[in-house]
Amino acid sequence: MHTQSIPLISPAIGTRRELASFHFGPRDAADARQKIYIQAALHADETPAMLVGVMLRRRLLELEAAGDIEAQIVLVPVANPVGLAQHVLGQFVGRFDLASGRNFNRSFPALAGDPSSLDGALGPNAQDNVATVRKLMRETLAQQKPRTEFESLQHALLELSLDSDVVIDLHCSLEATLHLYTSDEAWPQFEPLARYLGAEASLIATDSGGQAFDEAHSLPWWTLQQQAGDASPLPPGTIAATIECRGQRDVSYETAGRDAEAIIDFLRARGAIRGAARPLPPLVRAPTPLAGSEQFYAPASGILVHRAATGDLIRAGDALFDIVDPLTDETCTVHSQTEGIFYMRRAIRFVTAGAPLGRVTGTRPIRTGVLLGA
Ligand SMILES: [Zn+2]
Repeated sequence: MHTQSIPLISPAIGTRRELASFHFGPRDAADARQKIYIQAALHADETPAMLVGVMLRRRLLELEAAGDIEAQIVLVPVANPVGLAQHVLGQFVGRFDLASGRNFNRSFPALAGDPSSLDGALGPNAQDNVATVRKLMRETLAQQKPRTEFESLQHALLELSLDSDVVIDLHCSLEATLHLYTSDEAWPQFEPLARYLGAEASLIATDSGGQAFDEAHSLPWWTLQQQAGDASPLPPGTIAATIECRGQRDVSYETAGRDAEAIIDFLRARGAIRGAARPLPPLVRAPTPLAGSEQFYAPASGILVHRAATGDLIRAGDALFDIVDPLTDETCTVHSQTEGIFYMRRAIRFVTAGAPLGRVTGTRPIRTGVLLGA
């Protein structure tokens, strides 16, 4: 393993942060079968993901010592040193940049730049086309000059991940069961990972509208593929998935160790690590479109009382939330319209009117536009 450190733009005199990455496997890309990029806690307060990163680092060190790593594997267990330092009046604010209000996992710059620059550059050979697009992406990133610490963090992450075959972004939700997000095109390749992880929901979208880190990698390939046409085959050069490692308080050696082992098995099954992967466990739940997830909102302000647990199989009409007005003693109940898994909910217990409450998977698309939360 070797360690790299990318300095971020210093936001103010006397302050400086850096992004640390751990690199396993062959140093020279030509000696590696593929490149895998794994990062954790881009939303800095999502600590369960960070512990998975710790467990992965331990396992990868063992595997490297045994000579079993075939791929270049880049691990960034602390993907957001900026957010990690944001503690305000006792609250850890790791999702949004306090300086700009921006969500750390939204609005990543487009890697494809101007697709017209590829006109005539793609030919009949798929692998040559992948190399051409990777070159375009690297040039596009090199032209982008970050001005702020936030932008330099996004830039540094992309520098490390850009040319990977597989990108895995480890997050967690507020209160949740383990679930993952990926694209339609990448799902067949990530299905084994969903099995090893025991994912209770796999949410599929090609473009969820938020320019999150995973889609910053997968969406340009899909877009270019649509433009290229049949004469210029262009397989996805990068497949990407976001894994939500349960809820924010679910920090334990047992779950983190299990998740890390699931990722190791997935990498073994892909040939990135030598040795036989465990037999594939059954898929807990079939994937569902992200656009089919029902999002619930508080119809009024009040005390939020949960009527269902995360991971529950919900039927249409089931009660999910009560909101109790402490002055009038009136209670309004929010019911599910869909049948599916109650995969995430907010961690607060007093809500304002219109506040988002949680989500249940659904098989029929019911939403359009931006599919991710704020
Ligand atoms: Zn997150």
